[in-house]
Amino acid sequence: MPEGDVVRRTARRLHAALAGRDLLVSDLRWPDLATADLSGRRVLEVVSAGKHLLARLAATGGEEPLTLHSHLRMEGSWYVERSGSDGRGRRSASGVRAVLVTDAWTAVGHRLGMLDLVPTAAEVHLVGHLGPDVLGPGWDAAEAQRRLLADPARPVGEALLDQRVLAGVGTFYMAEACFLTGLSPWTPVGEVPDPGRLVALVHRLLHANAERTEQVTTGDLRRGRRNFVHARSGLPCLRCGTTVRVALIGPPSKERTAFSCPRCQPGPAPTDDGRPQAPLGARPRRTGPARAASGPARP
Ligand SMILES: [Zn+2]
Repeated sequence: MPEGDVVRRTARRLHAALAGRDLLVSDLRWPDLATADLSGRRVLEVVSAGKHLLARLAATGGEEPLTLHSHLRMEGSWYVERSGSDGRGRRSASGVRAVLVTDAWTAVGHRLGMLDLVPTAAEVHLVGHLGPDVLGPGWDAAEAQRRLLADPARPVGEALLDQRVLAGVGTFYMAEACFLTGLSPWTPVGEVPDPGRLVALVHRLLHANAERTEQVTTGDLRRGRRNFVHARSGLPCLRCGTTVRVALIGPPSKERTAFSCPRCQPGPAPTDDGRPQAPLGARPRRTGPARAASGPARP
């Protein structure tokens, strides 16, 4: 699932392809937006805010500047191809949600989780609730820590995933940051010994991966060795050999998967049956223990 680093790279790629160019054709395949016509508008910039993408479009013909907002959610992506090239076959046509055509490049939004078109002045209604953007220019560690600790009883993993606390963290960085600080994801944030270190670590991990396509937290680029616990349930912990566990974390109906090593990360944990489970939204693997997912291990 795309997290802040992936979204930031996507914004850069879209910005490089589209900024300064006029849209010749737009095609938004989304309820309420199907009749919107962005042709003639110049793309000013494409930026990320946490896990949100904002494509800002210039005013035209007396109409105000607009922002095309998208969110990748579980499996969305944007890709760029040369205008006029036949990109069919690369992605399923039924998954296409947005097409933005310029003279040189065409951007295609595929399986997007959200798509909105709003006046740029109203962007705040879409992203104003977000906490400090871990990869943003205005990163504010002190404010992120303040928000993290706002509810002392809240499980630290749940708080890290809350975009109102920190914008850009998903289940991968949450799991890896908890592992690297030796915290069970279910530890109440009020009992985290050094929350400043945790916030700094999350910032460092996302930054370290912002410029590359692999997500690495171990420093080891070999396949299967790149991260400690995320999506490794049923496999031995890379540090101690104990079987990595997975369970759901978060409020009802908003649960996410949390992977952890019970030995390296002592502390509260839900009882579970120890069955391996693929992360939510992941495609089933053909081989390997994570395939045996037959149901979530509920607390
Ligand atoms: Zn371990």
